[in-house]
Amino acid sequence: MKPRVGVSACLLGERVRYDGGHKHDPVLTDLLGPRVEFVSVCPEVEVGMGIPRPPLHLEGARMVETDSGRDWTDPMNAYAEARVAALDHLDGYVFKSKSPSCGLAPTRGLFAEAVARRWPDLPMVEERDLQDSALREDFIRRVFAGRTSGNASESGEE
Ligand code: SF4
Repeated sequence: MKPRVGVSACLLGERVRYDGGHKHDPVLTDLLGPRVEFVSVCPEVEVGMGIPRPPLHLEGARMVETDSGRDWTDPMNAYAEARVAALDHLDGYVFKSKSPSCGLAPTRGLFAEAVARRWPDLPMVEERDLQDSALREDFIRRVFAGRTSGNASESGEE
């Protein structure tokens, strides 16, 4: 069985972004795709924000709509906890950078934070890291190492 790698849905070419577009990443799909099983998640669509939807940003740990100030923090955190708890095991995760839901740095998105809380040792990268061959190979190595050691998949978090 191939490793299961969570991925921000827009990186696979799914038209789930706030403006109805996607952020297909050919490095992800061409180089990683044949070796793993992707588990596609768009937290903002799944929490019910719709497509298109107003842009969001983080204010500290709060997620708010940029124009209206509508606060999505509590619904997103509740969704993220439940969604992550319902996920079967994962061996890695590729997140979309610069997203208030999916980004890892400099500020971690709310959904990415929920994933990291559940699996602190899960190999996680942003898609831009995959452009660097050394970082990409290190991520792939850790994804496959986790499978053989049972790091993420057999540690009882299912
Ligand atoms: S970055 Fe995350 S929340 Fe935003 S469109 Fe992509 S998958 Fe959805």
